[in-house]
Formats: sequence, C-alpha cells, structure tokens
Amino acid sequence: MCGICGVINCPSGGVEKCLVGMTAQQHRGPQSCGIGSCYKRGHGNSVLKYQGLVVENCARRPLIKMGQKDPQVVIGHTRYATCGAPTIENVQPRISSDRLTLVGANGDIVPSSYKHWHSTMEKEGFRPIGGNDAEVILRVIEWRLSRGDTIIESVRFVQDNVIGAFSALMIHDGQLIAFRDPHGIRPFVVGGIKNSPTRLFASETCALSAMGADDYEYLLAGEIRAYLRDGSYCLVCGKEKKHAHCIFELIYFSDPTSFLYGLSVSGFRENLGGAMVPNLPQDIDIICSVPDAANYAAIGMAQAALIPYRLGIRRSHYVGRTFIAPTQELREQMARQKHAPNIEVIKGKRIGLVDDSIVRGTTSKEIVERLLQAGAKEVHLLIVSPPVVNPCYYGIATPTRKELIAANMSTDEICKYVGATTLTYLDMDELRDVVSRSGKSPDHYCMACFGGEYPTPI
Ligand code: AMP
Repeated sequence: MCGICGVINCPSGGVEKCLVGMTAQQHRGPQSCGIGSCYKRGHGNSVLKYQGLVVENCARRPLIKMGQKDPQVVIGHTRYATCGAPTIENVQPRISSDRLTLVGANGDIVPSSYKHWHSTMEKEGFRPIGGNDAEVILRVIEWRLSRGDTIIESVRFVQDNVIGAFSALMIHDGQLIAFRDPHGIRPFVVGGIKNSPTRLFASETCALSAMGADDYEYLLAGEIRAYLRDGSYCLVCGKEKKHAHCIFELIYFSDPTSFLYGLSVSGFRENLGGAMVPNLPQDIDIICSVPDAANYAAIGMAQAALIPYRLGIRRSHYVGRTFIAPTQELREQMARQKHAPNIEVIKGKRIGLVDDSIVRGTTSKEIVERLLQAGAKEVHLLIVSPPVVNPCYYGIATPTRKELIAANMSTDEICKYVGATTLTYLDMDELRDVVSRSGKSPDHYCMACFGGEYPTPI
C-alpha cells in the first residue's frame, strides 16, 4: 500500500508538482513520505524522508533542504508499511551507497523471493539497512550493475528473477526509469502536459490530474521506460505475463476519481452495488454506506433498487486509519471515534448498510451495534465483495488467515458476531460478472484474497 510519483523535463517547479501528486495519493500511504531528485547527470541524488503526511512535512521544505533549484528529475513516495518496519530507513525512495541510484516502489515481493534475494544480497556483501522490498530491488540492481550489466539489463534481471508486485520509479545517472512487474499487479500511469516536454508519473490518474496532466496512458505489464533529460525515451518491452491486476484496488484501495486498467473506479463501485440488487433482503427502507470507500457502491445499489440513499453515518476525518492501529482494543476505540450514527436519518428504519469488505470484522461490529443502539429497526449488512479469506502477498495490508474473520467463521456466524439482522456478500461469480460487463476479462485480475489463486509462487 504505497504511492509513487515522478517528474522529468519540467523547466521549473518539478518538486512542487511531485509534492502535489504525492498529496493526491496520500490515501495509498499515510505513514511516511519521501522525495528524491537528481540535479544533473553525473551528480549524486538527494533524498529527504519524513514520518507522517506530505502536507505536514513538505510545504516548501524539500526544495530548500535539497539546495537545488529545479532538479532535472524528481521522484516521490508515500508509504504504508506492508513489508519492513515503519522506520525512517525504510521510507522511500531508497538510495544506493554511491548515491547514483534512487528507487521508490509500490507493491510487495512475495515472501520466498524476498527471503532468497535478501540473503543472496547479504552474501554478496550488501549490508541490509532497514529492510524492505524497495531495498531488495535496489540491491539487486546495484549488484547487477557491479557485474557489468547496463541499467536496463539490471531492471530486466529484476523483472525476470524477483517475484511479486512492483510498480517502480528509479533515478539512475540523471535518467528516469519506470518499470513494472510482468503481471502488472499494481497500477502505474504516465502523462503529459499540452505543448510541454514534461512527463509525469504516478500510481493513479487522480495524482496525474492533480499535477496538471492533460493526457495519460497506462504503463504495460513488464514494461521498462527510460526517459532522458531531452524528453526522448527508450521503451523496452519486457516479458509480459498473464495480467493479474489487483481487484482490491478497484473495490477499496484506489481513489474513486481514478481510472484503473481502463476502468473508472467510481463507476466500477457503482456496478458492484447494482449487482447486489437481486440479493437484497425484502423491505429495506433506506440504504446507507460505511463512509467513504463504500459510498459509490451504495449509491449504485440505491439507484438500481429504487431505494433512497441516505447519509446515516458521519465519518470524522480527524481520526486516522483504524486499520493501521496495532491492537484490537485501539482499532475498536478508533472505529468508535471515527463513525457516528445520525439518529435523525436512521431512527425506526430498516437499513441496508453497505461496506466494501469485511476483514477482521471490527468496523462492521462497531457500526451495526451503534446503528441499533441509535434506534435503527433492522440492519442488513451488504458487502459488495466476496469474503476475504486469504492474505495478500502483493501489497494490500491484509492480516494473517488467523485474523481474517471469514477464514474462521461461516457467513451466519459472522452475521451473529457483528450483530446484523442479515449479512449478504457479493459472491465470486457475481464479482467476475461485474468485471466482464465492464468489458474486461476477470481472468486478468488477481482475486487471490477471495479465491486463493495467486498469480505467482508465494
Ligand atoms: P475490518 O474492520 O477489519 O473488517 O476492515 C474492513 C473495513 O476496513 C472496511 O470498512 C474497509 O473499507 C476497510 N479496509 C479493508 N481493507 C483494508 C486495508 N487493507 N487497509 C485499510 N482499510 C481496509
């Protein structure tokens, strides 16, 4: 769960543009942020790292601290640790010991490959500093360079031998290199500004729009692009494997204004909601969403079912992500502070309560309980994705199977546990059907968190 951003060929204000893009992708990683740049070919790179949000840390400080007016190439990263501790060393971009290479990546390397390359690099004399996926990618690239590979050959080596999800931006000797794993698991886009040589890079199109891009295209699975200062780029088509775009990006993680793998995120969520309509329990008075991720699905459902959509739950934007909190007690406490029922809207009503997913069950239990306490007559929980029964090894923070409620309880047991009147999930066939009806092949999506079919060895 991270976001990457990059800018090359921007005559002025490249750092500010990158910061704007990082802020637009803060939802992908609110824990820490980092920005790195290269002033000129042949110069070492600079990098600055902070714990916390981009807006809290970066207002004009990076430029001053970097001591560089208008560096030629800039990359930025927002992080939510899924691999490696949330320490300052692990904040990205990661820099090589000779300062000539900087890497920021989104996605996780699978555990077996991470272990293999981490220990191989140690044996090759690369002392781990912190330790996370981007460090492994950087070390493998440094190692291949030291053996005489070109930078493109080194990236190719990573694509062929390091297994997992990575959408990565790298600055190497003044060039900006963008590359993606062969399955294209995490998103990655590149855009341009009309009548300008500037190229902009981001995980999501919402960041490109914020940076002022007029157009965008998707980087392909397995693609490598090396951009030079003069705006020219060399495109290397790597070995593309069967696509396995992460379905959870569409369901929960990405910004609703983004376009992902050719689909509108908000439109897809509305369709998920619409697909639930044939399964709705009888006599629901109003549909409410657990804000914010489920809003579009709830609206899509309400429109298709001709039931009023009402704002029955208020979400506080001043409480951080409940999901990240380290203990169950804290997660419950934060969930309580985060959501408040609106008695005026829900009293005496039979509510269809829409959420995108149940992971541990903390949110559902908390909200159902409070809606009933506040006077709701019935709460029918409607989850617009199948039960999450498997952990993600590609960069979505899901806990172990032991903590995944649906891996340990039946739907009836979960319904009882969260205290809902009824509980309905969208099933796997219905999800695949929504993807097909959007004009995409469901076989080109990773749905391992629901179905258990991982696109790579783990
Ligand atoms: P839980 O409370 O553990 O059942 O988690 C489900 C709730 O957290 C839902 O409301 C989701 O919108 C949200 N959610 C699902 N997956 C994640 C994730 N990987 N990180 C943060 N929040 C999540």
